[in-house]
Order: sequence, then structure tokens, then C-alpha cells
Amino acid sequence: MSTADELDGASVLVTGGAGFIGTHVVDALRSTADVTVLDDGSSGDLDAVPDGVACIEADVRDQAAVRAAVAEADVVVHLAAVVSVDESVADPPRSHAVTVDGTLHVLEAARDADARVVLASSAAVYGDPETVPIAEDHRQDPRSPYGLDKLAADRYARLYHDLYGVETVVLRPFNVYGPGQSAEYAGVISVFLEQARAGDPITVHGEGTQTRDFVHVEDVVDAVLLAATTDAVGEAFNVGTGASVTINELAALVRDVTGAESEIVHTDPRPGDIERSEAALTKATERLGFRPRVDLRTGLESLADRT
Ligand code: NAD
Repeated sequence: MSTADELDGASVLVTGGAGFIGTHVVDALRSTADVTVLDDGSSGDLDAVPDGVACIEADVRDQAAVRAAVAEADVVVHLAAVVSVDESVADPPRSHAVTVDGTLHVLEAARDADARVVLASSAAVYGDPETVPIAEDHRQDPRSPYGLDKLAADRYARLYHDLYGVETVVLRPFNVYGPGQSAEYAGVISVFLEQARAGDPITVHGEGTQTRDFVHVEDVVDAVLLAATTDAVGEAFNVGTGASVTINELAALVRDVTGAESEIVHTDPRPGDIERSEAALTKATERLGFRPRVDLRTGLESLADRT
């Protein structure tokens, strides 16, 4: 039995279900579970919510709306957040209100409704790591309002489990990529693919020696489904591949899979960019059963084919 089958007939609320990761989660669940999306359309596309999936157009800052939506749910996959680091830097109070208060609204409602909460935290909670690969118990020292708000949400989820017995499972995705990701929010793979397809130079910030762990959205969906059904509640899990590439290697791979002849050029480094990132997956593999399946080249090839 697949994990999606274990949710057969369950009511699943996906906040942020009109966004990049959310639309893939909804797709994976909608044939077995009774899926509802709650989304305000701020960075996602409400028209992308498929027919047959209920869509509540609401803001997670609206506690009454969240309470009403969660009241019907067995599981809440909570993805809604201010996802842009730059936006969080420009407007920390808004990031806090959406990401922290929004999560509290979900957790409070889940406490009343006896619902499970799968929370999208982020690898941004770790900040600039002292050691790689980064395990879940690595020091957490976020470098942006986005990372700090994710850390608060992540800790609240743990606390609601410990204090009130709410079944919470926290996922910390690394760099997610895949179909439907916008280039606007600095998905570096989307940006490089756009540049390669246009025959424009591929622009690498700084020297390009910084490393990242790119995880395909299908693997993130697997992690969400596992989290929705696992016994390992009250825990946080990394969601990456356990491998990393430098941005220079990524640029060369994108050029390779697209067949583009784009030059690779270097621009100013981005302030605050971290040097190394790679997930340790021991805990997620052993406790959650998470095993990423899409290697970077295969994931990029399938994206390049989608022109
Ligand atoms: P996305 O922007 O595509 O999706 C976020 C969705 O939330 C959008 O549909 C948006 O309209 C909705 N939303 C935003 N503010 C809202 C509000 N106030 N009320 C209701 N809905 C609201 O982003 P994504 O990449 O799909 O990210 C989903 C989650 O995963 C986020 O919590 C993000 O922080 C987390 N995450 C993403 C990545 C990544 O690399 N994409 C990495 C780590 C964590």
C-alpha cells in the first residue's frame, strides 16, 4: 500500500495548496483523499486548483477562516508562508504575521479539531552551517526574517505536540525544484533554465563554489505523504537528497541538459549567501522511511524536456 492509499477517504487541508509544492501535493492526494485548499493567491495561482478540489480563498492571518477550514480536516499540510527571503527582509512584520501567526492559527485549530499538522519548515533554520551534511540537531541560527519565522513555526509545532499532544511533523526542505516553479522567487534552477533556453548567459552569483542540495518536488511530496501517516510525530526531518553540487556544476549541468551554448558568467556575490548546504538524511531515512528517488541530472533532464 502506498502512503497516499493510507490517506484513503481522509480529509486533508492543504494551506498554500495553489503554490508550487502545494499543487504537487494536491495532485498526489486528490484521487484518494478528500482535499481542500486554503490559499490567498498571493504567490500561488488559485486557477491551478483542479476541479473537484474545494478551494477556500482565505488568508492564514484570518484566524476564524483557518479555524473553520481546519475543523473539517484529519490532516493539515501547512505550506502557506511568505516564501521569499527578500520579501521577508523588506517587510519582517508581514513575514512574521503570515508565517508565525499563520502557523499558530493552524496549530490552535488543529488542537481543537484533533487534526495532524505537517508543517513546511525550511533548511533556512540552520543558517550558515558549521558542518555539512547538516543533521536535524545542528545549531539553528537563521540569517533572515524568513529563516527566523520558519524556526519559530518549527518550534511551535514541536511545542504543540509536547504540551497538547497535537500530532505534528515538521519537514525542513532544502532547495526544492521541479515543474511549476517560478523563476521570480529565486529558484536558481528555474532562472538558469530560462537563461539557457533563451540562449542568454547563465549568471552565477559570486565564484559559484557555494554548494546546495537540490531536491525534486516529487520527493518532497513523498516526504509530505510519509509525514501525514508516520508514527514519528513531534519530530523534525530534513528533506533533501543527501548530496550537493556547486552552483558552477549546476550551471554546467543545465547547459548540458538543454544543449544550450550559453556562456557562464559571474556576477556580484549575494550578500548573506551561505557557502555550503547539504542535508544529512539518516534521521529522515530511519524514522520516516524517506528515500529520495530523483537524482539531479534526471530531474533537470525532465524539466528541460518540458519546454
Ligand atoms: P509558493 O509561493 O509557490 O507557495 C506558497 C503558497 O502559499 C502560495 O500559493 C501562496 O499564494 C500561499 N500563501 C502565501 N501567503 C498566504 C497567506 N497569508 N494566506 C494563505 N495563503 C498564502 O512556495 P513553495 O515553494 O510552494 O513553498 C511552500 C512551502 O514550502 C513554504 O512554506 C516554503 O517556505 C516551504 N519551503 C519551500 C522551499 C523551496 O525551495 N521551494 C524550501 C524550503 C521550504
